[in-house]
Order: sequence, then structure tokens, then C-alpha cells
Amino acid sequence: ATILAIESSCDEMSVAILKDEKELLANVVASQIDIHKQYGGVVPEIASRKHVECVSTVLKEALRTANITIDDVDAIAVTKGPGLVGSLHVGMQEAKTLAIATNKPLIGVHHIAGHIYANAIENTIHYPCLALVVSGGHTELVYMKSEFNFEVVGTTYDDAIGEAYDKVGRVLHLPYPGGPEIDRMAHLGEHTYDLPVPLLDDSYNFSFSGLKSAVINLNHKFEQRGEEVRKNDLACTFQDVAVEVLSTKAIKAAVDLNVKEIIVAGGVSANKGLREKMAKSPVPVIFPPMKYCTDNAAMIASAASVMYRHEKFSELDISVKPHYDLEEESVG
Ligand code: ATP
Ligand code: MG
Ligand code: FE
Repeated sequence: ATILAIESSCDEMSVAILKDEKELLANVVASQIDIHKQYGGVVPEIASRKHVECVSTVLKEALRTANITIDDVDAIAVTKGPGLVGSLHVGMQEAKTLAIATNKPLIGVHHIAGHIYANAIENTIHYPCLALVVSGGHTELVYMKSEFNFEVVGTTYDDAIGEAYDKVGRVLHLPYPGGPEIDRMAHLGEHTYDLPVPLLDDSYNFSFSGLKSAVINLNHKFEQRGEEVRKNDLACTFQDVAVEVLSTKAIKAAVDLNVKEIIVAGGVSANKGLREKMAKSPVPVIFPPMKYCTDNAAMIASAASVMYRHEKFSELDISVKPHYDLEEESVG
């Protein structure tokens, strides 16, 4: 089947076309990072307005790249949530219009299921597996006993890991988003500072606000003394600690739950430190290709392709879900 998917949950507008689960015919991503950079973060009103401006151009570009017409598509998929309500609406409106106009089925996709199935485009997932979801809004361990079956076994009590990266980036006056920049700096620095390692208890849950605050306080102490913290070393120390916590918890859960592999998902799966650390895991690990780590519609098309096989279609009157439970989407 050929799936056309639209992703617009945050500040990227993307349209992808995926044929038979593996053959990616197009994946056009219009990022607004350069606009939101000047504000140090995503401004929701601007994001949705920009989406309205570019959605039809991105759609046309995807069809042109794939060299097909909308008639060649078997279903229209769209991110239903979670995300920014105004941003989600733009993609949803476009998807419904297309589905109604062409009389094709609509598939509403959970954004995190998309991040997880970014791993299935160029790889094969073996079940049972454990997904380590690390993104701007989520830090979760998701047990999947079988295809498209989600059980959240661990989550964050406070900040998501991507959010912690971006906040640390802001206090260090790095360009938005801080994550990729800190990753780059970490590789230029050394682990010289002392930061708390929030491994908490034996649970599979995370907490990153204490670590984030420790970085902010340390930086503040230097500023008060009129000195500058060694930014590369602080980035390195922060990243070492963050990656240590993520990998320790993921590997422990994977061993306890006896899974075949760990699949990493979400924007922070692009992180080099995390990739290096997870390479030493005793349980096999797969990462998505770099181009599918941050938000894109190819991952939504990939999840939708699985849903299509399971005939998980949506009604034409569905609404976006800014808050949206992953487990309720489970098959089986
Ligand atoms: P969610 O998917 O939870 O709704 P989101 O869509 O905003 O949140 P993603 O697009 O999945 O988040 O990921 C963006 C996040 O990934 C940002 O916080 C960004 O800083 C982080 N990120 C991207 N590349 C890296 C990297 N190399 N190292 C660390 N963080 C990174
Ligand atoms: Mg984004
Ligand atoms: Fe995302």
C-alpha cells in the first residue's frame, strides 16, 4: 500500500509518501527553526500560522518528488497528537480534506508511535522489544510484546530529556535547540565537573530537573564570580550523566523484561554520546537513521503502514489530541 502522511505537531511541516512500508518515495520537511531561534523556543501562534502558509506547497512538493498523483495513494495518514493544538489542526484539516475529496481512508497516528516506527523504515523490528523514547516532550520506556502493542513501563517525573538539553542550552546562551549543540560541544570537552547522577530507585522512571538545576546553579556560581564556566566541559559532564542514566535504565529494563532488542526513538536518538554508550549494551540496540530522528512525516507514514495492515482506520470526524495516551492505540 502507498501511504501519504502529514506531520505538523510542532514546528516542522512535513509530508511523506511511503510505499509498502519500506520504499520511501518522498519525505519533505519544512522546518521553522530559523524563525523560532530568535525567540529561543517555539512560539505556538507563529508555528501554526507558518504551517497554514506552507502546507499545500509541501504537499505538492512531496507528490512531485514521488512522481505520483494523489490517486495513486491508498490512505491518508496524519499526526493526531500529542503536540501543539494549533499546529496539529493544520495537518489534520489538510488530511481530512484530502481523504474526503479522494474518498480514501484516514489514519490518525500517535506522534510517539511514529518516532518508534522510524526504526522500521530501513530496519526490521524484532518483538518483544523495548523502546527507549527520548524526545523534546517525552522520556519513556515502552515495552512492546508484539507489533504496535505499547505498554509504558517507565516515564519521567518532571522534564523530558530533550527539554533538559534545550534548557541547559539556553542558560549557556547556545542557539536553539540546544540539544545538537551540546552534543557537539560535549565531544570537544572533558568530564571535569561534578553533577548528580539521578538514577533514583530501582524503577524504570526518570527525573532530569535536578540535573538541569545543578547545571544552571553551577553556571550561575561562575557568573557571579565574574568567571566563565568551561562550556565544553560542562556540556561533556552533563551529557555523560544524562546518557549514563538513560542507558542504565533502558538496559536494566531490557534485561528484566527479556526483550530481543532495544529500539531508540525521538529527537535525542540523534545524540552521538547516547549512540556510543548504547553500542556497549548486552542487548542488541537499533537506532533510526539520523534523517528520521527529529520530527518528519516518513515516521508517521511508517506507523500508519502498520496500522493500515491492521485496518486501524479513523473516522472522518476525529479531532486532534494535544494530550494523547500511547497505550490506547495498541493493537492486540
Ligand atoms: P515529542 O516528540 O516528545 O512530541 P518534539 O517532537 O518536540 O517532542 P523531537 O522533534 O522528537 O521533539 O526532538 C527534538 C528534541 O531533540 C529537541 O529537544 C532537541 O534539542 C533534541 N535533539 C536533537 N538532536 C539532538 C542531539 N544530537 N543531542 C541531544 N538532543 C538532540
Ligand atoms: Mg521539532
Ligand atoms: Fe517528536
